[in-house]
Amino acid sequence: MRVLTLALISCVALSACKKVEDTPAAVAAPEMTVPALSEATMKDVTKELSLDSYEGRSPGSPGEVKTVAYLTEKFKAAGLEPGNNGSWTQDVPLVEITAKNVSALSVADKAGKAISFAYGSEYVIGSYRETPQTKVDMSEMVFVGHGIVAPEKGWNDYAGVDVKGKTVVVMVNDPDFDSKDLTGEFGGKAMTYYGRWTYKYEEAARQGAAAVLIIHDEAPAAYGWNVVNSSWTGTQFLAQSKDGGASQTAANGWIQKSVAKEIFAAAGQDLDKQMAAAKVKGFNAVPLNLTASLSFDNDITRKASKNVIGVLKGAKRPDEHVLYTAHWDHLGRCTPVAGDDICNGAIDNATGTAALVALAEGHKKAGAPDRSIVFLAVTAEESGLLGSKYYAENPVFPLSQTVGGVNMDAFSLAGPAKNLTVIGMGKSELDGYLGAAAKAEGRTPEMEPTPEKGFYYRSDHFSFAKLGVPMVYFEGGDDLITGGKAAAKAAADDYEKNRYHAPADEYDEKWDWSGVMADLKLYYRVGRMLAMTDAWPNWNKGDEFRAIRDKSRSGK
Ligand SMILES: [Zn+2]
Repeated sequence: MRVLTLALISCVALSACKKVEDTPAAVAAPEMTVPALSEATMKDVTKELSLDSYEGRSPGSPGEVKTVAYLTEKFKAAGLEPGNNGSWTQDVPLVEITAKNVSALSVADKAGKAISFAYGSEYVIGSYRETPQTKVDMSEMVFVGHGIVAPEKGWNDYAGVDVKGKTVVVMVNDPDFDSKDLTGEFGGKAMTYYGRWTYKYEEAARQGAAAVLIIHDEAPAAYGWNVVNSSWTGTQFLAQSKDGGASQTAANGWIQKSVAKEIFAAAGQDLDKQMAAAKVKGFNAVPLNLTASLSFDNDITRKASKNVIGVLKGAKRPDEHVLYTAHWDHLGRCTPVAGDDICNGAIDNATGTAALVALAEGHKKAGAPDRSIVFLAVTAEESGLLGSKYYAENPVFPLSQTVGGVNMDAFSLAGPAKNLTVIGMGKSELDGYLGAAAKAEGRTPEMEPTPEKGFYYRSDHFSFAKLGVPMVYFEGGDDLITGGKAAAKAAADDYEKNRYHAPADEYDEKWDWSGVMADLKLYYRVGRMLAMTDAWPNWNKGDEFRAIRDKSRSGK
């Protein structure tokens, strides 16, 4: 993924553009010589992985076999050791679930009077359980506001209500999403993880709910019903879990806001009033005295895929690990444009994968680090961060012993920039490390221009963040040394319009790699600093991932 570029343009106009110096946790940059990082490696690996013969690197395809073999070869040649107990790979079992024969959603009152809502145009539904049939039968409906349980903020939308076996109706985003600035219990207009739809489903499952229906609302969702409809009426992709999804809710879906209005009216409630009430701390969940019924069949297919893992052993504290991650997969064969049906994914993310190799070479050249450095090329990012999720849930190196890391997803080929764009700035003490690295390279870190879009939760670093490991994610900036913001905007527009997730994301012999090489130095510095210190950077106070990190580090 990488849809950020276009969003960067508006940074000038937004008060959200702040410098990293504004944040605390400054870290002194240690004296460090960055070894020569190989542009030839960046070019060679990017070009190779983008060849049509790799067929767009779809997980489970012959293109995967080639990719895994090539990366293994490259990691070996760079001087790494196999990262998974003597093996270069970790098996990642993938599951694809497609709902079939989906019923309408039937909502009934106590007298048995029912309203019916059509699948697709009015509601969508699916299951994370590996089961042939899903049935929700006369399940009591409860409105749980934003469906958030955030102990560090003293916020619990499920307080005093038992939703076991019930169907929760929940709002998208978090309570202060429409704030104009970044102040507020939930980061103001910046999205927290509590605002993501994935969180809503996870929390409802923890509460024992049978089903979840998210109320679609265009502004806080940041996309229209067409996006919800198209992404939820096809195949859902999962990494296989130990319990086959038994701990998930039976059914997860969305309803149109107009549907929610009708349901609330049938319950004698006013949707707008209830939604406003749910923004205030101390909100109490509202039983709707209605039941929901629906059913569908699930077609289940399985695929085997792999993460590729190499490690550079630490000399002093080999059991402490620093992570570099990048997804090797892309979309495979896709909708043809001008007869070309291979989405090569040269920028997204052959470049990031090449960076793993170039950084491995660089760190090897610099000599053994104090801590071990793990180079992790993950699968199935494009299907929902599945390879990184699987690793984080089944780590080769314990997460409690994983210091932190850096994710690389799509380099900018627009040329060197004066600044750099930090996604999720202000979340963890890693900002201090990145700030020091940037300073040493004469770059200025800036906050992403649209923190309300929740980009921090949309690439592989998030799989680790969610389980407590501090991860930093940044990209080349939007103010180019040659051509400034206008040139950056033109390049971003071109990428977004013509190449992003399209067959034209191909290797180009004419590319200028100087910007990539400048960015690569930052990735090197942050990783090296983490590998040479004995510090354990944490999430900042009040961040949603701090508690889980503290728990993991304390071994409880
Ligand atoms: Zn990507």
